[in-house]
Amino acid sequence: EPNSPEARDVRYHLHGYTNARLNEQIGPMIIDRGEGVYVYDNEGRPYIEAMAGLWSVALGFSEERLVEAAATQMRRLPFYHSFTHKSHGPMIDLAEKLVTMCPGNMSKAFFTNSGSEANDTAMKMVWYRSNALGKPEKKKLIARQRAYHGVTIAAASLTGLPANHLSFDLPLSGILRTGSPHYWRDMLPGETEEQFASRRAAELEELILAEGPDTIAAFWGEPVLGAGGVVVPPATYWEKIQAVLAKYDILLVADEVICGFGRTGKMFGCETYGIKPDIMLLSKQISSSYLPISAVVANERVVGPIMDESARIGTFGHGFTAGGHPVAAAVALETIRIIEERDLVANAAEQGERLRNGLAAMADHPLVGEVRGVGLVAAVELVIDKQAKTALEKPGLLGAAVNKALQDQGVIGRAMLDAVAFCPPLIITAAEVDAILTKFRAALDTVASELGL
Ligand code: PLP
Repeated sequence: EPNSPEARDVRYHLHGYTNARLNEQIGPMIIDRGEGVYVYDNEGRPYIEAMAGLWSVALGFSEERLVEAAATQMRRLPFYHSFTHKSHGPMIDLAEKLVTMCPGNMSKAFFTNSGSEANDTAMKMVWYRSNALGKPEKKKLIARQRAYHGVTIAAASLTGLPANHLSFDLPLSGILRTGSPHYWRDMLPGETEEQFASRRAAELEELILAEGPDTIAAFWGEPVLGAGGVVVPPATYWEKIQAVLAKYDILLVADEVICGFGRTGKMFGCETYGIKPDIMLLSKQISSSYLPISAVVANERVVGPIMDESARIGTFGHGFTAGGHPVAAAVALETIRIIEERDLVANAAEQGERLRNGLAAMADHPLVGEVRGVGLVAAVELVIDKQAKTALEKPGLLGAAVNKALQDQGVIGRAMLDAVAFCPPLIITAAEVDAILTKFRAALDTVASELGL
């Protein structure tokens, strides 16, 4: 049908994260509406959105209070900005809420529109601070393999996944790379989690000494790596990494874009892992992704020198037209209010445990290599050879096959190479978790029998 939505999508729309030729062959999946944890495609087929969209729709797809909050604010003041000394109520309320709810001793919030912009902004704050302190050589940033911090030029440079660099001439110089905390994949034979964490910390220290501690401004990390495959840090990892950073006066930036607002079973991933960040980056669940908004929350160690420098040179020359948009800020405030009122962090912990236990019970399935997760985020690493930890010849083929079989069952998961991830809305019920588990088991069986296993 030449004028079907599918045909027009193929004709006019360049998708991210695919190959337009492949999109033409496979055909786009068009989602038409949502209700609770379900979305419906344009032929009315229901799917449990077991990824909450992009790890983000905390309250599910039909929260009326967010619609009301947006409509009310849009009628009152549909737009205002934060340049120079302008401000507005929702932005002030949200800044106060974030600064007081974030762990550690946070000082101020700066508003941006996406996770990538939050990462770019934090980089600029870190650099600006080094200049303010009279240390212009202290600018290098350390990020990890498998990290995902976004796709703008700076954020993509922090990202440690090859697809985000290939053919873009990235990363920028001055971004250093250290190993990821992927214990199952990167452990040496017989190595315990604690020994692995010590090795990663020692490698970090070697890198810092080789580059010169005075040249390194900050270390960047997601408490749990999301897009890199739901990589949960092994025991003692963050404690050991933080000890190295403290020794060399290096700032710690926690990218909480996925972990923030309950995902890990506590309000923030930093709380789950005892991380004491200087800067926290928040987005996605902050507004249940009903509208785009993100924030950089920083402590006085960061904010103080920035304020001194901007007083000296006349301005902090940074800001986005829509940063802290009043309608998005009103939706974010209402989202956080609902998460607190309904204690959805506790629900995430409880349903997450149910989900992870259910997945762990599939460990003896011939295709399951590792089950990992924390709170309400999990991944199953698929293998053909459990001993060698290898999948099919082409990386990602097995993950895609299982994820497709899962979708045919009516569940949207996400394949990241050969790991299938689950990150459902925080409002999910036990019955909905059980439905995901039953359908995932069926998907595994389908693919195993296709492979003759
Ligand atoms: N940081 C993390 C940890 C993310 O998972 C993401 C997106 O998935 C980003 C940053 C980038 O966010 P955005 O896509 O809103 O730019």
